[in-house]
Amino acid sequence: MSAPIALLSVYDKANLLDLAKGLQSAGVRLLGSGGTAKKIREAGIPIEDVSDITKAPEMLGGRVKTLHPAVHGGILARSTPSDEQDLKAQSISPISIVVCNLYPFTETISKPNCTVADAVEEVDIGGVTLLRAAAKNHERVSVISDPADYAEFLEAWTKGNGDVGQNIRSKLALKAFEMTAKYDDAISGYFRGQYASADSPEDKFTGTVQRIPLRYGANPHQKPAQAYVTEGELPFKALYGSPGYINLLDALNSYALVKELFEALGLPAAASFKHVSPAGAAVGVELNEIEKKVYGVDDLKEPLTPLACAYARARGADRMSSFGDFIALSAPCDLATARIISREVSDGIIAPGYSPEALEVLGKKKGGKYCVLQIDPKYTPAEIETKQVYGIYLQQKRNNAKIDAKLFENIVTKNKELPSQALTDLIVATLALKYTQSNSVSYAYRGAIVGIGAGQQSRIHCTRLAGTKADLWWLRHHPRVLALPFKKGVKRAEKANGIDLFVGGEVLEGGERTQWESLFESVPEPLTQEERTEHTRQLTGVACSSDAFFPFPDNVHRAFRSGVKYLAAPSGSVMDEECVKAADEHDMVFAHTSLRLFHH
Ligand code: 5GP
Repeated sequence: MSAPIALLSVYDKANLLDLAKGLQSAGVRLLGSGGTAKKIREAGIPIEDVSDITKAPEMLGGRVKTLHPAVHGGILARSTPSDEQDLKAQSISPISIVVCNLYPFTETISKPNCTVADAVEEVDIGGVTLLRAAAKNHERVSVISDPADYAEFLEAWTKGNGDVGQNIRSKLALKAFEMTAKYDDAISGYFRGQYASADSPEDKFTGTVQRIPLRYGANPHQKPAQAYVTEGELPFKALYGSPGYINLLDALNSYALVKELFEALGLPAAASFKHVSPAGAAVGVELNEIEKKVYGVDDLKEPLTPLACAYARARGADRMSSFGDFIALSAPCDLATARIISREVSDGIIAPGYSPEALEVLGKKKGGKYCVLQIDPKYTPAEIETKQVYGIYLQQKRNNAKIDAKLFENIVTKNKELPSQALTDLIVATLALKYTQSNSVSYAYRGAIVGIGAGQQSRIHCTRLAGTKADLWWLRHHPRVLALPFKKGVKRAEKANGIDLFVGGEVLEGGERTQWESLFESVPEPLTQEERTEHTRQLTGVACSSDAFFPFPDNVHRAFRSGVKYLAAPSGSVMDEECVKAADEHDMVFAHTSLRLFHH
């Protein structure tokens, strides 16, 4: 039987001579590409050149060294009569071991003066082919892609008398596949940076754009930063401004939310996001006269369209939190909605389109720097999503759970009456949680989130936070709040802050008090406890949803105190029965959903 053949072609020549010596003494016939063979030969170890078997010299300055049927036939041939016959017909010997590592592409491109031409030369062709061919045929061939594995391989080879066993060959193949995948990622990443985004600011976001550079990541010192897809083009483009990293986190989460709200309820939807959770979200339920005042749109000249109602509600639920929001709309932005947005402090908007008048209004915001993104409504994200945390890839199926009326059919309380407006509110509350950082609890009323508790580690803190926000939202409907005597010229954001301090009932002192008082023609008397209690009593029929089960009935009692009548949460707590009992005590309607909605 002829000696087994090892083909060696390595850029990193570390540990090479020990391996070559070991293989040679174990009776392996060595073949090497130019530089590899030279180094081994100079150490006095016998080795043949690849060109001896290909009968073709290395050419094109090293671009073609091992790319030849004599090499790849020898690697890819299986131990079958037909493959053996083919090899024999072409006088090709089978190759048993491939030792290869690649040109240092990543190192080259990280050099400051690296040109595209330098990078191109560093794209290894033959080496990747060697690794992939040998890894593909790992049933017969051993592929060693890491100099750190040489010693162990030699030991196994010697011990196994020329057979390292299938397990080792499989592990080595996996390593080679991972190595070529990483190498290809580095190459496509580099060329994406060079070619996938146009250079000039005017056309940066037009045409086929696979990648956009971002000024920085979550913080200014986190550079470089980018957004990209590995296939096709980005499903959105910037019509004005340029999005930042957190803008995109907000935009992509909020658009998913409004799209699903529209699909679930057939009404235009809007969301107002801050720090990757909704500060508000709503569908286009018409506003009554009081609501128009509460949401600060009573003076709008344009008639309120359903979409404008949705954004007015989303923005108005918690005006403090919505300050500097990122907005998502489920339908093309119309003039009325654009007018509301134009006078608010906001970071940007994502929508499937803009009417020409709306775009004109938004294009003037922040001197043309307001971020206006247009998303392709037909875009469907991949089923599997991957992110990286502390260097580790985490992968999961996208949360594509449908939230519709069916989810709330399992009503576990004595009271089972769920009117259609309450069902709408439960859908809004639950869908919002699907895109809210967990833990989360939300309260909804008349098609809008009116209080949301996001990102708390305990459920009761979510329920309290959402409840307190809902309480403040409702107090803003109090006739004395609506009649607050603000001075002329007080800005909208200042009014929002002034109202928040008034309904929050904090006792202000010193400069803070003076500043607050200066907003008014005459200093308003604080709301008394009786006024507050009386007003709170008037709110009933609020819906509340939780992204996981209620672990204790305190959540149910707390929700009730903010006017909650309709509850939805998954079951599964040892305290389920106690929670249902608490809901029965208040004559609430509680639906067990069996759907947990954590979002991180
Ligand atoms: P050597 O130092 O032996 O001349 O070259 C070794 C390097 O060449 C290895 O990094 C290997 O991946 C690469 N290589 C092997 N075959 C080919 C080929 O046909 N074309 C190119 N461009 N590189 C190859």
